[in-house]
Amino acid sequence: MQPQAINRVDAGIQIDWQDGHRSVYPAELLRRACPCAVCKEIPERVATGLLPLSSLLGQKIDILKAQPMGWYALQFTFTDRHETGIYAYEFLRQICPCEICRSAH
Ligand SMILES: [Zn+2]
Ligand SMILES: [Zn+2]
Repeated sequence: MQPQAINRVDAGIQIDWQDGHRSVYPAELLRRACPCAVCKEIPERVATGLLPLSSLLGQKIDILKAQPMGWYALQFTFTDRHETGIYAYEFLRQICPCEICRSAH
């Protein structure tokens, strides 16, 4: 699934997909779902798919930059300077936090 449009919104990033579905990802959710080699190994990330809130050290996370990586992924730079995660569109679609997607899991 490819995005049709990627936009910055107040909450984080909004992706409109080719099938008409719209996903809105809060910056904090994206940061906590970071799929980089380091984050992926953190036990709570392994267990729940999300980094613990405590790993953000109380910082309010925002996105400084969202950069397309070829045709398959986005790379985010977060306000805590973390930027090693490559978010494949397939992965982003999987973690869509909307009610429809969440109840489908
Ligand atoms: Zn990471
Ligand atoms: Zn969804």
